[in-house]
Amino acid sequence: MFKRNFTEEQQMFRDAYRKFLAQEIVPNMETWREKGIVDREAFRKAGDQGFLMVWPDEEYGAIGDKDFRYEQIIIEELAYARCNDFYAPLHSRLVGPYLGNFGSKEQLDRFMPGCVSGETILAVAMTEPDAGSDLAGMRATAKKVGDHWVLNGAKTYISNGINCDLVVVAAKTDPENNPHSLGLFLVERDMPGFERGARLHKMGMKAQDTAELFFNDVKVPAANVLGDPTKGFYYLMEGLAEERLIAACMALSAAQMSFDLTLEFVQARRVFGKSLAAFQNTQFKLAELRTELDIQQCFIDRCVEAANSGELTTVMASKAKLATADLQMRAADLGVQLHGGAGYMDEYPISRQFTDARISSIYAGTSEIMKIIISRDLLSADYVPFNTRNF
Ligand SMILES: Cc1cc2nc3c(=O)[nH]c(=O)nc-3n(C[C@H](O)[C@H](O)[C@H](O)COP(=O)(O)OP(=O)(O)OC[C@H]3O[C@@H](n4cnc5c(N)ncnc54)[C@H](O)[C@@H]3O)c2cc1C
Repeated sequence: MFKRNFTEEQQMFRDAYRKFLAQEIVPNMETWREKGIVDREAFRKAGDQGFLMVWPDEEYGAIGDKDFRYEQIIIEELAYARCNDFYAPLHSRLVGPYLGNFGSKEQLDRFMPGCVSGETILAVAMTEPDAGSDLAGMRATAKKVGDHWVLNGAKTYISNGINCDLVVVAAKTDPENNPHSLGLFLVERDMPGFERGARLHKMGMKAQDTAELFFNDVKVPAANVLGDPTKGFYYLMEGLAEERLIAACMALSAAQMSFDLTLEFVQARRVFGKSLAAFQNTQFKLAELRTELDIQQCFIDRCVEAANSGELTTVMASKAKLATADLQMRAADLGVQLHGGAGYMDEYPISRQFTDARISSIYAGTSEIMKIIISRDLLSADYVPFNTRNF
């Protein structure tokens, strides 16, 4: 594997974050998994130490560095500490940027300090019972009445659904005349008519709370509309490349962790009088996996550079997500297989690596949707055959 391109400052940030996770997060994960929710205090502690949101301007209490590698480090360290279900990157780099990119100065001043400190936990609510991949099928509506909007609808599978204080809610703003007119609304914890359903029970990612949200005649002040209330689809599309890069970084670092756990196990396990690592099947399987991991790591690191220079496209990020989600699942599956019966036991971490991995090809756009985006590009007029490209 090539030397990876992190600055000295970023290496120090990694060391400090690793220590923070070991002290403040890892010891609590099992309790949070049993409860199905991370304590709000975890967000505040991360915020206190500058680990929650790195990119917002310093005036809001953050470090103010937009380099995506900080988020990549956070994601990797969460995976290596095996606490991906402390899903802080959703708050920090997936939802936060909606506020950062499309919020007014007044909205930033009002909400950003709390988001950076961890007082205000964020969520984004797009998916509905009948509209996931097909967001255009959304039924939630927002109607302008005087100086506010009246929001109605139900959302499901919302990460941080129980913990959240501020939700970016997508709703149609002109359903009769223009089904593509979508608004993004900042709904606050105590707004009358905003209710949370029960916490949903999941196969994996147990500590990360997921819930249904209900909006019944919620009066949202005009001051809580993000940007133009007809351009929500465009805003969502803008965030997609980075959202998928986050998912890809998460999937790949979890796959790296599954590899490490498996390599350690096969060296310790003895079967038929010798080390499991001595069998050619074990060696070949691990050699193949190590090769794929190294190749994908190069691609992901290159995507991170492209995100930093503003060159990351939705198609590129879709390829990153498609490939890494598949590799994460296969790495966990091979890990379970090489662990034998132990791999099926909760006391071995590879077991949770497997159940946690299953979500990656579903959320942030399913693998089928990634393939649709990639194939659409292949068939578009802009596609340039590889052999005629100018590099
Ligand atoms: C743990 C978890 C956390 C989540 N967090 C959030 C969140 O914070 N906020 C949020 O808004 N949403 C969230 N989601 C929702 C997630 O983004 C959706 O579940 C996902 O986009 C898929 O939508 P769906 O569940 O409606 O499946 P569907 O869209 O019904 O898909 C079902 C199947 O059909 C396939 N399919 C759909 N359309 C096509 C097509 N055109 N061609 C071929 N195949 C197709 C899909 O790929 C899939 O295999 C979360 C989901 C989970 C499970």
